Order: sequence, then C-alpha cells, then structure tokens
Amino acid sequence: SKSKGRNRYEFFSHAIEEQAIEKRRLIEEMRIALKLGQFVLFYQPIFDQCGINATKAEALIRWNHPQRGLIGPNEFIPVAEENGLIEDIGNWVRGQAIEDAAYFYQLSGKKMQVSVNTSPLQIDHDGLWVDEWILACNKHDLPRDTMIIEVTENTLMDPDSPVQQQMQRLNHYGIDIAIDDFGVGYSSLAYLQRLDIDILKIDRSFIKHMDTNESSIALVRAIITMAHNLKVKVVAEGVETEGQHQLLKQLSCDYLQGYLFAKPMPSKDFIDQYVTPTLL
Ligand code: C2E
Ligand code: CA
Ligand code: CA
Ligand code: CA
Repeated sequence: SKSKGRNRYEFFSHAIEEQAIEKRRLIEEMRIALKLGQFVLFYQPIFDQCGINATKAEALIRWNHPQRGLIGPNEFIPVAEENGLIEDIGNWVRGQAIEDAAYFYQLSGKKMQVSVNTSPLQIDHDGLWVDEWILACNKHDLPRDTMIIEVTENTLMDPDSPVQQQMQRLNHYGIDIAIDDFGVGYSSLAYLQRLDIDILKIDRSFIKHMDTNESSIALVRAIITMAHNLKVKVVAEGVETEGQHQLLKQLSCDYLQGYLFAKPMPSKDFIDQYVTPTLL
C-alpha cells in the first residue's frame, strides 16, 4: 500500500542520513587523529623464495583509535580518498615510512626496502609530490632505492595523464615502482614498458586458488614469465599455504608476502624479528 511505501522510503532516507552523519564524524575524527598522532605504520616482511630472508617490507597504516582500538585501513582510507584527506594522511605515511626506513638502515647497516601504498589521488600534477619524496629521502640521508612506491594499475593506464611524467621522475631518481594488486585492473600492459616498472605484486585472488585450480597456476606462471622477460621482479601477495609457497618457488616467483610467513606487525616487533634478529 501507499503508506507502507512511504514508511520504507522514510526508513531508507533515515538510514542514508545516519550514514552521512557517521561519515562526517569519521572525517572529523581523522583530522584529529592526524593532529594527535593516532595513526601508526605496521610492517609486513616480504621474503625471498625460500621464505627465510626478508629484504623488503610493506608499510600498512593502522589507526590507534582511543575508543575503538586498532582500526584497519579498509575502514577509513576509502573515506579519506573521497574527501581529500588522503593527501594529508599520505604525506604523514611518506614521512613516517622514510623515517622508519632510515632507522632500519641505521640499526642493521643493511638496506631494508620499505614499500609504501599510494592512492592515485595523492599524485598531483605539478610535481610537488615527487619533490617531497626526494627532499624527505635526502633529509634522512637515505639511498633512494631504499623506498618502493606501490600504485595500482589504473593509476598508470592513461599515457597522456600528467601522472605519467611524475612516475617517470620518481623512476629517474631511483625510487622503485611496484604495481599493486596486479591482474585485477585493466588489461593493457603497455605501461609496464613505458614506465620502467620494477616490481609486480600479483593480487591475492590469483594466489588463493593455486592449490586447487590449474588455471590459476597457468595465470600466475604467465604473469611471472612476462614480468621476467621485461626484467621486472615479482611479489606474490597473500601466500597462506605451504602448497602455494612450493608452487610459487617452482614458478621462480622472486618474492613472497603473506600470513604463511608473517602478518603485519608494529615496527618494534619488525625490528626485533627482521632488522636486528641477531640481538635477540
Ligand atoms: P594492499 O596494499 O593489497 O595490502 C595487503 C593487504 O593484505 C593488507 O591488509 C595485509 O594485511 C593483507 N594481507 C597480507 N598477507 C595476507 C594473507 O596472507 N592473507 C590475507 N587474507 N591477507 C593478507 P590491510 O593492512 O588491512 O590493508 C588493506 C588495504 O589498505 C591495502 O591493501 C591498501 O590498499 C590500503 N592501505 C594500507 N595502508 C595504506 C596507506 O598507507 N596508504 C594508502 N593509500 N592505502 C593503504
Ligand atoms: Ca599494497
Ligand atoms: Ca624503475
Ligand atoms: Ca595488494
């Protein structure tokens, strides 16, 4: 009936309004979190084929919320991307990751490459974003190939976008570029050559089915072969089983990341276990 329809409409419009209020609250809280230093970076080691030595680590943001505890990025990064706050958060992530990388280097005397996630919205067109990267590396006396910037495929698809030029500058300065979530995005691969990409990270969805699905293995094999022909290294994301590990080793996958080896952890734990393990 008519009145029932109206009730439903009111119900939904009410729910949508709630959602909008909730979002505004989240945005306000994120601004405060930036000021009060509530964001932290966790580190997940990335291992060689044998799954023993870690020479890289991915920096993954967490929000240490005073009431709600530790919040994962999926709960707030998309909202930050929607309203522009991602720029400030991204700047904080860059600064912290470079500072941490410099500290790891100082502690161990060895290079531990730190991989930083980057939203396409952070990469401005006037080059300031790249300038900031270079300045921050210089400030900490950090060899620039200590840092890896992770971007998704769609960031690099349009050859006419000014983003291309910025990525080329990064590459020129010696910062490595990794393609995140490889395989789930667009299918044009021209950018791999155009931008001198260093690393492909095969999306977890492909790795997940390798144990049970021949065609997943074939796909992963094809990606690795193509990458190696282009002199691009390969990281498998989300390795969870020993079966996947052995298959990836057989396929000559260069690096492995996943819960089978280690979960993301606070930088202190990361230092104890992977930067200065001999001191344990
Ligand atoms: P991502 O870049 O694909 O990061 C990998 C995600 O997979 C991480 O989730 C990690 O904890 C999780 N993971 C690692 N190994 C395994 C595994 O073996 N099994 C399973 N099921 N998951 C695994 P997390 O930390 O929740 O991050 C989610 C996403 O948030 C990231 O996906 C990335 O897109 C985004 N993100 C994280 N940190 C930042 C940041 O500093 N800036 C930006 N812009 N985005 C970030
Ligand atoms: Ca990533
Ligand atoms: Ca490069
Ligand atoms: Ca990924």
